[in-house]
Amino acid sequence: MPAETGRHFLAIPGPTVIPERVMRAMNRPMVNIYEGPLIDLTHSLFPDLKKIAKTEGDCMMYISNGHGAWDAALFNTVSTGDKMLVLESGRFAVGWGAQAEQMGVVLETISARPRGGVDPAAVEEHLRADTAHGIKAVLVVQVDTASGVRNDIEAIGKAIRAAGHPALFMVDCIACFGCVPYEMDAWGVDVTVAACQKGLMTPPGLGFVFANEKAMQRRRENGCLSGYWDWLPRAKPDMYYKLFCGTAPVNHLYGLREALDMITEEGLEAVYVRHNRLARAVRAAVAHWGQRGSLELNITEDAARSDVVTTILTGDLDAQVLRSICEDEFSLTLGLGIGLDFNRAFRIGHMGHVNEPMILGALSTIELALMKMEATFHSGGAEAAIYAFD
Ligand SMILES: *Cc1c(COP(=O)(O)O)cnc(C)c1O
Repeated sequence: MPAETGRHFLAIPGPTVIPERVMRAMNRPMVNIYEGPLIDLTHSLFPDLKKIAKTEGDCMMYISNGHGAWDAALFNTVSTGDKMLVLESGRFAVGWGAQAEQMGVVLETISARPRGGVDPAAVEEHLRADTAHGIKAVLVVQVDTASGVRNDIEAIGKAIRAAGHPALFMVDCIACFGCVPYEMDAWGVDVTVAACQKGLMTPPGLGFVFANEKAMQRRRENGCLSGYWDWLPRAKPDMYYKLFCGTAPVNHLYGLREALDMITEEGLEAVYVRHNRLARAVRAAVAHWGQRGSLELNITEDAARSDVVTTILTGDLDAQVLRSICEDEFSLTLGLGIGLDFNRAFRIGHMGHVNEPMILGALSTIELALMKMEATFHSGGAEAAIYAFD
């Protein structure tokens, strides 16, 4: 274990680094959950979350992780026997689809382009062929945290409208919510799923679902087999207690309030720009290293590379050894290559509370570990990252 001096950098794609301000805001005794300041604080969160999702729709908040928010979206919109189209672009879209399958939903799938994003034209073609409108929903992930791909949600929304298909358009934004541009209403998204532990810089424990009127109407027609995941009592609670279907997550609410204040202070547009700058630096370093040896970016289309997580293929270089050196000797934790071969891929999370010294430090540390491994790579990637900043 490295000596406990300086800061350990957890550069995994969630949970992410928690700002001190958020930790301080959360470190408090319990308060009354029936009346008092907690009620107003909770209600103040919804408008800010909706500003990030860019929606006039409803926002439901759950004590859950992202998998819980997936179920919250599914239970209110589809039933056993319904058909659903899953746009697969990595482990996470597949995982969401699997939870639908467990409810008895019948899946149809379209795979993304190899090492790229979902092709909107393929979505349009598939939906046009469904003349009976049997498909009840289309599921996609904006950024798939496994492959590192960013799907073009706006273009997929257009494709669904061009097909004239009534399926609900449901998007998982968990990896990149509050980090990259997203326009739920303008892009024709009916249901958005998010969580607090990535771009929202809050410890894991809160899941969010945003639903527009079309999706709410589906819920009213569909019913909901679960009292806990049901949208209706949460969207318009007649008493505070129903907002969380029980005890409120007191500390998380204070933490999220602080994190949202930080985003407001920086400005959402500035947050997007920061993520893009840092991501370009990461990509510049990897591309540079890859000029010799086997390191390469998993996503081959530049436009489809996400600004929140980068997945790197290591070829004949052992990614587990690289990760262990970084973690055990240099206080840097990198992400496992999930959905890919653990030994042949790793991920760098660069979302949320991150800045230049953290990212340049991580890239330099990776280069140091590569050197220690006596790996074959083109040295100077960290320097290439510096010059990638404008
Ligand atoms: C992290 C993540 C999830 C899963 O969230 P959990 O909190 O681990 O359940 C789902 N989808 C995407 C895109 C994610 O990045």
